[in-house]
Amino acid sequence: MIPINSHGLIWFISTQTQPTTKIERIHLLAGNFHIKKKYRQHPCTFMDAFLCAIMKNIEYAYWYDWRKKTENIPKDVRLYYGHETCEHLLPHQHTASEFAKYISDHRSSKLCLVTPFLTDAGIQKALKLIDCLLTVLYELEVICSDWGLLYYLSRHKIGTPVVGRLLAGQISDPRILRIVDDNHTPEPRKIRHVNGHHCVLKRKMPSNALKQHYKSCSIDKHETISFLTDSGIHRCELNNVAQGIELNLSGYTYSLHVPEVLVSVMRRCPGDGENLNQEAVCPCPGINSNQKIVWWCHHDLPVDLFRHDNALYYQWPELPANLDRLPIDRIVFNAENIGS
Ligand SMILES: [Zn+2]
Repeated sequence: MIPINSHGLIWFISTQTQPTTKIERIHLLAGNFHIKKKYRQHPCTFMDAFLCAIMKNIEYAYWYDWRKKTENIPKDVRLYYGHETCEHLLPHQHTASEFAKYISDHRSSKLCLVTPFLTDAGIQKALKLIDCLLTVLYELEVICSDWGLLYYLSRHKIGTPVVGRLLAGQISDPRILRIVDDNHTPEPRKIRHVNGHHCVLKRKMPSNALKQHYKSCSIDKHETISFLTDSGIHRCELNNVAQGIELNLSGYTYSLHVPEVLVSVMRRCPGDGENLNQEAVCPCPGINSNQKIVWWCHHDLPVDLFRHDNALYYQWPELPANLDRLPIDRIVFNAENIGS
């Protein structure tokens, strides 16, 4: 439980005469997001959970888009750098090397290179990038979205390989929220069969086993965890999914990405029209690809979705109410406006 009253905490933060950078960032973060009230199912507020995270000494990290300017990089934190969904949007070696020099000289931050799923050529490119960063940095975590790269890094003991969100096997469809929400009670609906009979459709409550399945991830199994641990892979990245998180096993370490939940990845980055007969790799022109964020909303969806590059996301800023019982020791802020 979190032994803190949220109003008291907010008062405490707002009356600091000289707020620290960390507190300023929390304020910025908490003020930036709003959630539809009817889906606010967790009793724990974002601020409560975030301060609980600080009290537990959870590390916090920022996602940094390498295509942006370097002025707003926070100091003394862990930075996530690279691209998670398109291999053409990984930074060039020279850019990455310059960035690594910049943060090691001026910022004393730690770097995690985020990599997407990769073609054979893409794996070679990612390995060169990792090599190039390791010549500058003392340590480097590599977040892998590709089993091939994860295997290679683990086998050759290169950097610190991490299981990325795309490999964690979490269910991130936002509609799951309604299935597990005990308070969601739609009106019974009459339907007519083809043979003329009528019946009434009522909501069936999900079993605890089904709820557990939706809140868990495929990594959370004895066999998988012992295989990963034996391979020298000790961390997995998770989405802060709207339905909440429950993990059966402790003994493994997770990072939680907030607030953007990765729902699915498309074949191509948007830009120059779609031709389904083309090769199944993204033809996007790298840094110059269309970075415009497009939002979708529909009355059937409990949250709005948005597309960024070639992936679909929604935002869920409320941390899990059971955060203190989960084996999560890092929170990664992955929204664009964080860290500025
Ligand atoms: Zn692309």
